Amino acid sequence: MQQPVLLRRLGLATLAGLLAAGCAGSIVVDGGADRAVAPAPVSATSPPVSPSDASAGLLDDAGLRTVLDDVAEAFLRADPESVRAHLLDEESQFGVEWLERVSNLAEVPLASYALELDESLPDLATERVRGQYPDGVQVRYVVERHAIDGFDETPAAEDLFLTVVPTRDGWKLASDRDAEALGLVSVDHLWDHGPVRVTIDGPVAALHHPDGPAVGPLLAEARSALRTATERWPLAWPERVPIIVPRDEEELGELLHVTFDLSNFVAFATATPVSVLGTYELTGSRIVLNPGRFLNRAPETRESILVHELLHVATRPASGPMVPSWLEEGIAQALGEQRSTTGTRLVDALGTSSVALPTDGEFTVGGRDRIFLSYQLAWAFVDHLRRTHGADQVAALYEAVGRGALEEPGNEAAQVDRAATEVFGRSLEALVQEWRATR
Ligand SMILES: [Zn+2]
Repeated sequence: MQQPVLLRRLGLATLAGLLAAGCAGSIVVDGGADRAVAPAPVSATSPPVSPSDASAGLLDDAGLRTVLDDVAEAFLRADPESVRAHLLDEESQFGVEWLERVSNLAEVPLASYALELDESLPDLATERVRGQYPDGVQVRYVVERHAIDGFDETPAAEDLFLTVVPTRDGWKLASDRDAEALGLVSVDHLWDHGPVRVTIDGPVAALHHPDGPAVGPLLAEARSALRTATERWPLAWPERVPIIVPRDEEELGELLHVTFDLSNFVAFATATPVSVLGTYELTGSRIVLNPGRFLNRAPETRESILVHELLHVATRPASGPMVPSWLEEGIAQALGEQRSTTGTRLVDALGTSSVALPTDGEFTVGGRDRIFLSYQLAWAFVDHLRRTHGADQVAALYEAVGRGALEEPGNEAAQVDRAATEVFGRSLEALVQEWRATR
């Protein structure tokens, strides 16, 4: 928890069910990718600059920070010339994309935008990368922080892996894709895929492309869903959220960088964890739609999906690093939608002795029936807790799991058990036994 989290976007997905709107899975898109990084022979803090280079003073980490600050400021000011000045090759794909980003971002009301060099990782340049660029090339880990004005109390924190090349004029930016061979993927935003319009309606905003799907009634439905989510989630939350509307499913895949089949999903709730010693915060909450599979549904179905996603957003302030998916998805269904989004056929078919809480992985892999069953089990158990103990106690359990992992050691099972004992006075296993006995 002391280290910055690589590939930090955390997603809670909503399945596009045949039966109903769908259900959801909590996934950490990739939490362990730093292990793929081989130690690099070049120190991150002493780039190999020729001593004879007159501009050597620019070519240290302080010089790179100045470049990153300049570029970030240029994005805020919508100033393409300042970005151009720091590109190695403005006609490369990367150069073109970063210059386009300046105008694509122009309408997004950014309260802040920053690019921060993070020295927790060394230079990530591989032999292959060194063979492609001038001597002294580095691939550096940079944390991008952006806040949408009126929506993000704390900036979203995302990962960039930037190739930087030393020149007589200082560091030049050359690529953001050279660490992909190591499994380290730079963040993709909607504005990396074309101009972005922002339509704001009180506590909700749609970020969409002018040539993308019409957002029409989306904002009104989202406002109504937000009121419902606020009524049904007992704890405080910011009660506002931006909704990202990609052009199509292909673009959605590029934004999320997930490896599972997106055709099963109608929407995602994403956020970025920021954790330093003893703290954990999920920032940059967004709802991301799979437009073709969301927008063509009936209005009441869309609103139900939005309530589900908004429950995920609402739980974020109380979340922690070890909240199990069954609790996330059970709450979004039992407290949010107040129903199982994929019906109950699969869970009803299980014998009493077979019902058990699904693992996190069983929410995204194992095939459609396994995934649907996981959501139905999560709904059934959390709905049992809600009916037996009330929504306030379910929220208290969630809060205790989130907080507990910051206060006490132990794995996810130990955290949930401790929280169950704190809130309900008995172990998770005892609660599960009681649930089975009601079936
Ligand atoms: Zn969900």
